[in-house]
Amino acid sequence: MNAPVIQGWCPGALRPMPSGDGLVVRVRPTLGRLTPLQAQGLAGLAQQYASPVLELTSRANLQLRGVCPDSYPALINGLRSLGLLDERADVEARRNLLLSPFWIDADGTPAICEALNLALAAPDAPTLPSKFGFAIDLGAQPVLRDASADIRLECLGDQVLVYADGATTGACVPLAQAAHSAMELARWFVASGGVVNGRGRMASLLQRQALPAPFTTSRIPEAPAHTSTVGPSATGMVVGLEFGQLPAETLHQLAALAPLRITPWRGLVLEGLHTAPALPELITQPDDARLRVAACTGAPGCTQALGPTRALARFLAPLLPAGRTAHVSGCTKGCAHHGATLTLVASEAGYHLIDHGTAQSTPDATGLDAAGIAAYLEQQRLHAPYV
Ligand code: SF4
Repeated sequence: MNAPVIQGWCPGALRPMPSGDGLVVRVRPTLGRLTPLQAQGLAGLAQQYASPVLELTSRANLQLRGVCPDSYPALINGLRSLGLLDERADVEARRNLLLSPFWIDADGTPAICEALNLALAAPDAPTLPSKFGFAIDLGAQPVLRDASADIRLECLGDQVLVYADGATTGACVPLAQAAHSAMELARWFVASGGVVNGRGRMASLLQRQALPAPFTTSRIPEAPAHTSTVGPSATGMVVGLEFGQLPAETLHQLAALAPLRITPWRGLVLEGLHTAPALPELITQPDDARLRVAACTGAPGCTQALGPTRALARFLAPLLPAGRTAHVSGCTKGCAHHGATLTLVASEAGYHLIDHGTAQSTPDATGLDAAGIAAYLEQQRLHAPYV
C-alpha cells in the first residue's frame, strides 16, 4: 500500500489546504459557537463559493470544501465580515481550542478562552505544532477525554486541573490562573524538545520526558466515558449529522431557530431548544445506526484516497452488531476517526479490514469488497460475542 503524504498541518481559513475537489477552508468560530447571523452568512457563502455541503470536524470546527482559487478572496472577505476570521494565519493556526459544547459563562470557559487567545496571539507565543491543541472541559464531568488534545483543563472542585495529555497528574490552580498554567505547560513542551520538524504531540513527549514539578501535584481523577452524543441537554438539543455533513440549506433552517454550537462528535447543539426540527439530515436518536460509522472524504474528494468511503460506511452501518463501531478510511492516514472497533482501509486492491486496531495496524483480512466485509461481520456475529 502506498504511504499517504503526512501534511503535518491542518487547514485554516487563511491557510487553505488543496484537495482533490478544490481548496479546503476551515473556520474556527470563537467559543465553538455561531450566532444566527453567522450561521446564515456561512450557509450563504458555502452556496456561493464552495460545495453546498459544509463539514463538521472532530475538533469542533466547520470546513468548506471545493473552493476554487478564484472564489477564495471573496469567500475570505465574507468570513471577515461575519467575524469568523483571525488577523493572521499563524495566530489562526495556534488558536486550537476545543471546548465542551456545554460550557456556560459561569464555569469560566469564555474567560479562559479569551486569555488563551491573547497569549497565543502575543509576540512571545510559543511556536506550537499545527495539530497541538487545548481541551477546555469545565463541566461537572469531563466530556472531551476521548477528543484529540495536548493540554487539558478540567474542573476539580472549585479549581481547574491543568494537565498534559497522557499524564496521570496535573496542576490544580484557581480559575484566574488556569490559562497562565496551560501556557506554562505549552512553553515547557517546546523547551523540552516536543517539536521536531514542526510536528509533535504532548503524549509522545511524555514518553521521554518527566513533567515539571507543578504538574505532578494533583492526581487526575477517573471519569466515566461520555457516550451520549445526541439528545436533550441543559444547553440545548444535541443533534448529529451523518459523517458531519451539513447541507447549507439545513444550516439556513437551523440558523433561523437558534444559535448553534459545534460538537467534537460532528454534530450541533441547538442552543436553548428542547427538541430538534424534523429535518431528515439530523440524527436525534442515540441508537441511530449512522452514529456508529465514521468515514473520511475518501475518493474522489481526497487526492490521497485509494477508494470511496462513505457509501461503504452507509452500507455497513445497519449490519454492525451491537456495541461495534466502524471507520472507513480512504488510506492508512485514518484522518476521520480513532477508536472504532472495526476499521476498513481502501487499498489498490479492495479494502483492508482491521478488527480492534487503527488504520495503520496490520490488517486481519485484505482485498475485501462490501459483500466480503458483510460476510466477515456475519461470521463474527455467529461465532464470537463482541466486546
Ligand atoms: S484518511 Fe481519508 S481524508 Fe485523510 S488523507 Fe487518507 S483518504 Fe484523504
